Amino acid sequence: MSKTISINPYTGKELKVYKNHLKKEVSEIIDKANKQFYSWRETSFSERKKLMLAAASELKKNKKEYAEMMTLEMGKPISQAIAEVEKCAWVCEYYAENSEKQLQNEVIKTDAYKSYVSYEPLGVVLAVMPWNYPFWQVFRFASPALMAGNIGILKHASNVFGSALNIEKVFKRAGFPENCFTTLLVGSDGVEEIIENEKVKAVTLTGSGPAGSSVASIAGKNIKKTVLELGGNNALVVMKDCDIEKTIATCVKARFQNTGQSCIAGKRLIIEESISEEFVQKMLVKIRELKSGDPMDGETYVGTLAREDLAKDLEKQVKSSVKAGAKIAIGGKRQGAYFEPTVLTNVNEKMAVFKEETFGPALSVTTFKTVEEAIELSNNSKFGLGVSIFTKNIEEAEKLAFQFDEGAVFINELVKSDPRLPFGGIKESGYGRELSEHGICEFVNRKTVFIN
Ligand code: NAP
Repeated sequence: MSKTISINPYTGKELKVYKNHLKKEVSEIIDKANKQFYSWRETSFSERKKLMLAAASELKKNKKEYAEMMTLEMGKPISQAIAEVEKCAWVCEYYAENSEKQLQNEVIKTDAYKSYVSYEPLGVVLAVMPWNYPFWQVFRFASPALMAGNIGILKHASNVFGSALNIEKVFKRAGFPENCFTTLLVGSDGVEEIIENEKVKAVTLTGSGPAGSSVASIAGKNIKKTVLELGGNNALVVMKDCDIEKTIATCVKARFQNTGQSCIAGKRLIIEESISEEFVQKMLVKIRELKSGDPMDGETYVGTLAREDLAKDLEKQVKSSVKAGAKIAIGGKRQGAYFEPTVLTNVNEKMAVFKEETFGPALSVTTFKTVEEAIELSNNSKFGLGVSIFTKNIEEAEKLAFQFDEGAVFINELVKSDPRLPFGGIKESGYGRELSEHGICEFVNRKTVFIN
């Protein structure tokens, strides 16, 4: 019998031992999910809306309970965990209100008496999800999928099984029929068999490149649709005419919220040389003010990383960059799963903290002299999730947006997800989109109906 042990990264103590589902149990869950699909797809939008709004209310009502589990399991500061649960309620409300309109038949005039596209659910969709936003990553998949008439099964990251079970609980408490949304307690080695199950129709994965590549290969072999939301190495491109105080506040948040463990975090500060010294010195003052400590303390802004091995990985990237000539302006030290908020200056394109995704509180600083150089530096990444540009010349920045190889360009704002806007990347950041009308259309059959 295989089991999964969850460990509190702040205390290093064992939280709970979960008994993994056996293969036979997984197969039974998928059978039940598939059976439920045939009745769930018959429900009306107003029925689904009522349930999805109940899920939003449940999230708001018990946000503390759900937030505490996330904080215990992966070290996220509690105030940020509560904000995450509230954001999940927002995405539920957004799709409750909008999915009927988004999925209504699209009439297309042809030589037919009547022709149109109808948007129909696919069936059971598997979600393979990461631990960094244990609730948000799942809800941004689950709320549109369920509103479209699909069924969700979740394979969550092995260090957040408590949150995974809590998500199942949210839908149960909201009154969704049994088996509309189920959590599978399995490790990554159990994913192949799930994808190969003929009752599973599609897969969405949020996580690292290797996991995405493996899941997409298996799905490809089985001709199943995938959406991949993978890593990112977003640049914060700062022009000399920016509003320095506001830009610093935004950049600090972009890098250090969620203790730096976000795919869309601003990881590389690319700044015009003439203001870099002043900007960095002022930014260090703000970084020193960030409170590190017990993630359960409402005042804490920087918690621990989700696991000690992740902090060790970051330490390696920082050390190798320093060896190659980078200078530590602040931080740089690790203690267990905690990593100090860190800024490295004098960084070039060959260093690990520039080339690789740093999944923790470390910001690299590289300077540029011309706009062309800034764009080249920003685009010099295997990832293409998003970029932020800071300048008072909005017209010019909007013209430049086209030249960035990214899924999103935010001007004078950090890259963030919003239920109303599509979210996703290009290059090795993945493909497909979540959220908005684009997200709900990923897992539907666009059926052409032609009547003569
Ligand atoms: P990860 O190691 O790839 O894990 C993500 C999920 O995939 C987990 O459920 C994991 O299960 C599973 N998994 C891992 N290897 C697999 C394999 N070979 N086959 C099938 N499933 C596999 O990623 P992570 O460390 O949890 O998350 C960090 C990464 O996610 C970063 O690169 C980050 O940028 C990316 N991310 C992207 C987005 C986005 O929206 N683009 C959002 C958040 C995070 P186990 O836990 O059981 O191994």
